[in-house]
Amino acid sequence: MIRFEQVSKIYPGGQTALENVDFHLQRGEMAFLTGHSGAGKSTLLKLITAIEKPTMGKVLVNDHDIGTLSRSAVPYLRRNIGIIFQDHNLLMDRSVYDNVALPLLIEGFHDREINKRVEAALEMVGLGDKTNFAPMQLSGGEQQRVGIARAVVARPPLLLADEPTGNLDPKLSMEILRLFETFNRAGTTVLIATHDLGLIARMRYRTLTLGQGRLLSTEAVA
Ligand code: ADP
Ligand code: ADP
Repeated sequence: MIRFEQVSKIYPGGQTALENVDFHLQRGEMAFLTGHSGAGKSTLLKLITAIEKPTMGKVLVNDHDIGTLSRSAVPYLRRNIGIIFQDHNLLMDRSVYDNVALPLLIEGFHDREINKRVEAALEMVGLGDKTNFAPMQLSGGEQQRVGIARAVVARPPLLLADEPTGNLDPKLSMEILRLFETFNRAGTTVLIATHDLGLIARMRYRTLTLGQGRLLSTEAVA
């Protein structure tokens, strides 16, 4: 699903963010991405979503070469990727339902299909009874689950999460990761960037560890 071949990323200012990064994330796999602040985690995610292009080497996502992808092909690539952010980026003046429906509206789905999918996604994240609430009326953990429902509602084969538990306590963080496991078991490929090593150690998934732009390890953290 994701393949990095000897990838380096040097920003225009001369800052090397990634150096010779080489890994393969198989379709259906779930893995963590970790490393200190500045290690290159965000850059790696930006290469997968084609926000940035590699300076050297090759990034393949779903067999598409990010380096040679035309501008017009980028939206098609992104349709295959659900993205979850730390601060969930919800529209605060819209209901939970409207927030989750948004990706389907953009893709031009019919109301009936939107309704069915939004209800199903909210049910999966345990918010089936809060569809008409405003995000402000929900707890931090619930808001994060709305963000997850929005990311999965179009059923993308790949889920990327950038510090999805950054603002949550350990118990809620674990619940969020269990949700990712549920999607993974249903066949979705999942990559979770986090610096929460305690959480990673409890889950025992393969972990890509970055240090100053280099991939230090691709094994599970003991
Ligand atoms: P992380 O997400 O692990 O904190 P980043 O990928 O954000 O790491 O950053 C890796 C390195 O690249 C850092 O030294 C950072 O300052 C630099 N960097 C990130 N984005 C840019 C940018 N747009 N322009 C220049 N340098 C950048
Ligand atoms: P139907 O195909 O009858 O419309 P649903 O759309 O509700 O049924 O979903 C079928 C199954 O797929 C459900 O069990 C649901 O948990 C699962 N599912 C739906 N969306 C996703 C997703 N993005 N990732 C993983 N599993 C999903």
